[in-house]
Amino acid sequence: MQNQYDVIIIGAGAVGCAIARELSFYDLKICVLEKEADVAAGTSGRNSAVVHAGFNNKPGSLMAKLCVAGNEGMEALCRQLDVPYEKTGKVLVAFDAEDEAVLQGLVAQGEQNGCRGLRLIRQEELEKLVPGVGGIGGMLSPETAILDPFKYGIALAENAAANGVVFRFEEEALAIERQKEGFRVRTPRGEYQSAFLINAAGLFADRVSALAGVGGYRIYPCRGEYFLMDRVADSLLKLPVYPAPKKGIGGLGVHLTPTIHGNIIIGPSAEYIDSNEDYACTRPVMDQLWQEASALLPALKRGDIIGSYSGIRAKQAPPGEGGFRDFVIREEEACPGLINLIGIESPGLTASRPIALMVKELLEKRIPLKEVPGRSRTHRFPPRFAELSRKEQEALIRQDPEYGEIICRCQRVTKKEIRQAIENPLGARSISAIKYRAWATTGRCNGGYCLNRIVDMLVKEYGLKPEEVSLRGRGSELLAGKVK
Ligand SMILES: Cc1cc2nc3c(=O)[nH]c(=O)nc-3n(C[C@H](O)[C@H](O)[C@H](O)COP(=O)(O)OP(=O)(O)OC[C@H]3O[C@@H](n4cnc5c(N)ncnc54)[C@H](O)[C@@H]3O)c2cc1C
Repeated sequence: MQNQYDVIIIGAGAVGCAIARELSFYDLKICVLEKEADVAAGTSGRNSAVVHAGFNNKPGSLMAKLCVAGNEGMEALCRQLDVPYEKTGKVLVAFDAEDEAVLQGLVAQGEQNGCRGLRLIRQEELEKLVPGVGGIGGMLSPETAILDPFKYGIALAENAAANGVVFRFEEEALAIERQKEGFRVRTPRGEYQSAFLINAAGLFADRVSALAGVGGYRIYPCRGEYFLMDRVADSLLKLPVYPAPKKGIGGLGVHLTPTIHGNIIIGPSAEYIDSNEDYACTRPVMDQLWQEASALLPALKRGDIIGSYSGIRAKQAPPGEGGFRDFVIREEEACPGLINLIGIESPGLTASRPIALMVKELLEKRIPLKEVPGRSRTHRFPPRFAELSRKEQEALIRQDPEYGEIICRCQRVTKKEIRQAIENPLGARSISAIKYRAWATTGRCNGGYCLNRIVDMLVKEYGLKPEEVSLRGRGSELLAGKVK
C-alpha cells in the first residue's frame, strides 16, 4: 500500500534526521514528514552551532549523558558525513571572585559528567587564547567544537535518503489517528500510515503528542536573538568565549562564537515569548546584545554586523519558574508505538546522534532490527570551489566551464555549485535550501548580487514559475507580480 511505512518520523531537525539516518541501516520502511520546505528549518538551523562538552548539564541527567557522548562522537561523525567541524575549544571568562567560584564548580560538575580536559586558567593564558577579552581568569574546555548546523542536518538526511528513507517536505502532521496496529497521519496532501510514530517535532512536540492522544506536555518557547558579523573571526576570535554563567531564566549567557565559515555570532538572549514561530529580532534586545558583546570583546566593530537571526528554545520549564527539566525520550505507555522526544533544547544538536541511538534501542525492544548489508554510513558534499587550490580550480573549470562563472561574489560560489545545490537529492528548491548547500547569499551584500541570478536559473533552467520561487517554501514567495 502506498504511504505505508514501518516508521514515520515527524520533524526533520537535527534529531529527526539523526534518527532517520540511524534507522536507515536496518530493514525498515521509513518516512520523515516535515512541515517546512527543507531539513533544519527550525531550531536546528537557528542556534550557536557549538558542540558542547557537557559541563553545564546536571550530573546524572540524560542531557549530561547524551551531550558528553555526542561530543565524543561528533568529530568522527562529521568526518563520515563530510560536515565542516572544528575542535576550537571554548573559554569561559571570570570577571570577579564570584565568577571564579562558579567556574570551579563547573569544572567539578563537568568532571562528574565525564568531560575531558577541563581546567581553570589564569589571566595570562586567557589573554593568549582570546586577546582583548577582559577578565581576571577563566576556564578552558578543550573538547568544545563548532560545526556547520545546516550541512549537519542535510548530510544526515541525504545519507538516510541514500539508504531509502523517504523525506516529505511541506507535509505538516495535522491529525493522528491511532489504529488497532499503528497510526494514520493526515497531512495537507495525503495520509500516511505506520506501525511506529516518532515525534521529533521540536517546539511542536507537545502538540504532536496531543494529536496522538497523549497530553500532559507543554513547551514554553524561549527566544534567543543573535547578531551575525562579517568574516572577521580569523583576526579577532579563534574560539567561543562565554561569560561565567549567571543565575537566571536559562541559556548560557551572551557569548561570542566564531562560525565554521569565519563569521562571528553574538548572542543569544533569552526571553520567554508567546509564539513558537516568532523569530523577530527586536531593537531593545539587539542593543543589549551589542552592549554585552562589546564589553566582552571591545575590539568588535558595529560596522561589521551583517545580519541578525533568532532561534527558539523548546523549554519545559515555565516562565518565572525556570530551573532544570531533562529531555524526555520514551515510548509512551499510554500509546504503544509512539516514541516521544520532548524538551530537546540545548544541547540537542550535540546530543542528536546519541538521542537517535536511544530511539533505536527503544524500537529494538519492540521489534527485531535487522541490519541491511551495503547500507551507506558515509556522505559527501560536492567540492567547495573557493576552498580548492588554484590547480584544482583550473582542473574543475576545464572539466566544466560553469566552475568558471562566479554567481555569489562575496563567498565566491560558482554557477556549477549553485546547480549542484538546486539538484540536491532531497529535492529542496527554496532559496534557503540553495543558500545552505552552496553558501551563496550569505556574504556582506546579503544576496544583493547573486539572488536574482539564482532566481533566473530556477526560472529559465529549471522551469519554475517566477511566483513559485520562495525563500523558505510556501508562504514566502519572493515575487508578487509584474511592475510593468
Ligand atoms: C538559541 C539557541 C541556541 C542553541 N545552541 C545550541 C548549541 O550551540 N549546541 C547545541 O548542541 N544545541 C544548541 N541549541 C539546541 C539545539 O538547536 C536543539 O536542541 C536542536 O536543534 C533540536 O533539534 P530538533 O530536531 O529536536 O528540533 P527542530 O530543529 O526544531 O526540528 C523539529 C522539526 O519538526 C518540524 N515540525 C514541527 N511540527 C510538525 C508537524 N506537525 N508536522 C511535520 N513537521 C513538524 C519543524 O518544522 C522542525 O523542522 C540551541 C537552541 C537555541 C534555541
